[in-house]
Amino acid sequence: MIGKNTKENCIELIGKLRREQILTKEEYLYLIQNRDECAGELKEQAGEVRDEVYGKRIFIRGLIEFTNYCRNDCIYCGIRRGNHRAERFRLSAEEIISCADAGYELGFRTFVLQGGEDPFFTDEKMCAIIRALKERHPDCAVTLSLGERSDESYRSMREAGADRYLLRHETASKELYGKLHPAEQSLDNRIRCLHVLREMGYQIGAGFMVSPPFQTEEMLAEEMHFLKELNPDMCGIGPFIPHKDTPFAGEAAGTVELTLFMLGLIRLTLPRVLLPATTALGTIHPRGREMGVEFGANVVMPNLSPAAVRGKYLLYDNKICTGDEAAQCIECMKTRMRTTGCEIVVDRGDSLVR
Ligand code: SAH
Repeated sequence: MIGKNTKENCIELIGKLRREQILTKEEYLYLIQNRDECAGELKEQAGEVRDEVYGKRIFIRGLIEFTNYCRNDCIYCGIRRGNHRAERFRLSAEEIISCADAGYELGFRTFVLQGGEDPFFTDEKMCAIIRALKERHPDCAVTLSLGERSDESYRSMREAGADRYLLRHETASKELYGKLHPAEQSLDNRIRCLHVLREMGYQIGAGFMVSPPFQTEEMLAEEMHFLKELNPDMCGIGPFIPHKDTPFAGEAAGTVELTLFMLGLIRLTLPRVLLPATTALGTIHPRGREMGVEFGANVVMPNLSPAAVRGKYLLYDNKICTGDEAAQCIECMKTRMRTTGCEIVVDRGDSLVR
């Protein structure tokens, strides 16, 4: 790279990444450090690759946040057990099912059941809910996002019909994982769970936060190698955003520029991955999700939870769409996506990774 200026070097590296779908850690780091010089180029290339693989079709997932009780104490998270100011709620099985029924009418063909790690929702309860959803909507995918559970639990929910599991690894760095979580939680187990889930036939979603306290650019470069090796079906990333009742209350949020840049790098590294433009990205910038799509994302996850509990599932401050009804959310999302030249489709949106 001798004799060229920074911008030319970056453009060359982005070209190489598109061709070879991998860079060295040093090369990723160089791009991340010089992102101001080449964000436009990355956006263009990442958008093209998304178009080649998935076209301009944006998949929607109906997110049902059904419990904010959690036995874990992740330092960054607003629903950590140590946050005694969080107003806790649980949806009943009937409420969950009626959210999904309403979502089906609105065109959703994937339902994501997300919650804190809440022992109240035993395997028996979860399996009954999954069976009911699959019985009522056999053409839909059921995605779970319930954190770490036993292998036996994962197996029984898979047998009940669950199709996919989202479990962000949060960071591939053991050092950083240790600073973001109490000692009782381990990165090794989280990654083990991802492998177990895949073995059982789930489509898996991994992912990390951009710019939580203590994260370095080197660590972000390493995320790319971790993801390449894991090769997940989906990868959810979003900026860290502080929550006022956590120890990280006074910390800075991740930026839209860096989050978009990481989305673009992921699209070029894993062309077939399902890549959501997340609610957190929409929270730090009014056009965050649209820009995410412009940087290669192809999934959005509007909320289907009942309006009455939305304001209680607060992982971070200023979360958007907490006052809207599902029908409003999907209309708003359709309009937003059109501004990017993409279109929301009625489809399960299965992964093309395997
Ligand atoms: N209990 C489930 C679901 C966690 S919530 C599980 O353990 O997987 C979903 C994601 O929200 C988390 O994986 C985390 O990456 C993200 N999140 C939590 N707190 C956040 C914060 N303060 N800022 C940004 N993202 C956050």
